[in-house]
Amino acid sequence: MSERVALFCGSARRRIYCAPFEPGPNAHKSPSHLAGVAELVDAPDSKSGFFGSGGSIPPLGTILDMACTMKYCSNCGGNISYLIPIGDNRQRAVCDDCGVVHYRNPLLVVGCVAESDGKILLCKRSIEPRYGYWTVPAGFMELGETLAAGAARETLEEALAPIAIGHQLASVDMVDAGQVHIFFTGTLTGGYGVGEESLDTRLFSEDEIPWDELAFPSGRFALQKYFEDHGQDNGVHFQEIRSKRLKLKN
Ligand SMILES: [Zn+2]
Repeated sequence: MSERVALFCGSARRRIYCAPFEPGPNAHKSPSHLAGVAELVDAPDSKSGFFGSGGSIPPLGTILDMACTMKYCSNCGGNISYLIPIGDNRQRAVCDDCGVVHYRNPLLVVGCVAESDGKILLCKRSIEPRYGYWTVPAGFMELGETLAAGAARETLEEALAPIAIGHQLASVDMVDAGQVHIFFTGTLTGGYGVGEESLDTRLFSEDEIPWDELAFPSGRFALQKYFEDHGQDNGVHFQEIRSKRLKLKN
C-alpha cells in the first residue's frame, strides 16, 4: 500500500480535520474477515499482496472498508482516527499523534499475453487464491520498474520465460479490489519452464485455452481481446470489473 505523508506540520495540522468517520460494518472487525480481499477479487500474484490469501469473496463495499482497518500509525505508532482532512473530500487514516495522513490508493497489476509460434503461454497457479487454475503471467508492479518491464518480469518469474514485450493490450479496472490490471502482448525469445508460483506452464493454441479453468476475469478479458485482434495492435481494450460480477468457483 502506498502512503503519502501529508505536508501538514505544527499546530496547523490539529485544525485541518473535520467530520469524524463512521466506518462501515466491517471496518474494525478482525482483519481475518478481510483475508485475501485484494487477492481473491483478482490479484494474479499473491506474494506482493497486502492481505495475504484465503477467505471468501468480500461483499460489495468491503473494499471501501479496507481503507478503515489501520489502527496504528506506521510512522510513529500512534492511534489512527478516520477523518476528512480539510480540503479533502473523503475519509483518511490520520495519526492522532504525528498528524500523518496515510493515503491508500489502487495497486497496479501487470501481466503479459505471451506468444510463441501462435500459442499462448499460461501458468497453472501453485498458490492461493485460485490454486490450480490457469492464468497469464501477471503480478503486482514493483517500485522502480515500468509497466512493460513489470509484465516481462512476471513472465520470467512465473514461467522462466524471457520475452520481448509487444504492445499494450488491455486495461482492466478492478474497482472493488482497488487495483488496475494492465496487460501487454509479448513474444517468447527463449524457452520456458515452471516458476516458483506455478504448478505447470504450457503453450496453448486458441482452441486449447482452458477457458473454464482460468483464474481471473481480467486475464480472461486480455486473452479474449488478444484473439479478437489476432495478435495485432488495435489499441488498448478497457474493461471495468466489480466484485458482484465475479463468479469464482472456489
Ligand atoms: Zn503517527
